[in-house]
Amino acid sequence: MQYVDHVADLVGGTPLVRLHAVTAGLSATVLAKVEYLNPGGSIKDRIAARIVAEAERRGDLRPGGTIVEPTSGNTGVGLALVAQRRGYRCVFVCPDKVSPEKQDVLRAYGAEVVVTPTAVAPDSPDSYYSVAARLVRETPGAYQPNQYANPDGPASHYASTGPEIWRATEGRVTHLVTGVGTGGTITGTGRYLHDVSRDRPGGPVVVVGADPEGSVYSGGTGRPYLVEGVGEDFWPSAYDPTVPDEVLAVDDAEAFAMTRRLAREEALLVGGSSGMAVVAALRVAERLEREDPAAAARAVVVVLLPDSGRGYLSKIFSDPWMRSYGFLRDEGATTTVGDVL
Ligand code: PMP
Repeated sequence: MQYVDHVADLVGGTPLVRLHAVTAGLSATVLAKVEYLNPGGSIKDRIAARIVAEAERRGDLRPGGTIVEPTSGNTGVGLALVAQRRGYRCVFVCPDKVSPEKQDVLRAYGAEVVVTPTAVAPDSPDSYYSVAARLVRETPGAYQPNQYANPDGPASHYASTGPEIWRATEGRVTHLVTGVGTGGTITGTGRYLHDVSRDRPGGPVVVVGADPEGSVYSGGTGRPYLVEGVGEDFWPSAYDPTVPDEVLAVDDAEAFAMTRRLAREEALLVGGSSGMAVVAALRVAERLEREDPAAAARAVVVVLLPDSGRGYLSKIFSDPWMRSYGFLRDEGATTTVGDVL
């Protein structure tokens, strides 16, 4: 019989899918790694399994314990999958910009969700970081994975995401493009790909970060943006700034327009950070095309799509929501029943 013991055993091993429509006119091969096919629906499943296993091994998490984490949703789902299997309680803290659907998913898995305001400084007592820290102090047996500082986050990508890309492209990947949130994905995956490609004839893999305009990784001051799961207003230690060769800033309007195109033209229903990463990947491919057409023809650009669009139906995929922020350009408009704007 073919089965796994638990759904958490299905984490990783996601496929690469070639992009066609959004890459029209470009000779580079652009391959999307579709992370919504993880059992919890995002790339964050990968870090959850390793973080919990390592916390148990160190004795930081014991039977009957509670996992408390500030999370935009996806890390919470991953942790909830693993926690269920091991019998831990989960309490997650989310900023209020996180879509209600995502919060409901966490509750559906049996987690408790505490919602905090988005527009406050990280050191405010109401910030999601501060509220999580207080809950850890007040809850007996609490363990905070702290994905922003936990080295097991990047380590999980070094052990899984990186090798999967290297194997699937038979070592021909030339560029990795990925969004930066905690920085764990780019740090672990990028470091692995640098390490394995360092001495190859074509030169090492070029690692490119994609960051919301306004976020610190691309030189911003932390000013608000709407894309979820990426960008920061501080420098987490999960992020090693020496790994990316370059970080490109992408604004919300461009990221969301591309997110909608991916659903309509590539049949990839993904979240806003995926659209953002694809905008950056196409900029890399376009630049190569202009500067070195021969290199462009050989280029294999792998772009990570961290999560599914199902969590954003009332936002990015809603015309009234998009219009309310001035994001909707006429060519992307659809008619929504009851839409009177
Ligand atoms: N996209 C989404 C939707 C996410 O939830 C995350 C995780 N915060 C990322 C991208 C970025 O991943 P990382 O934290 O590893 O930088």
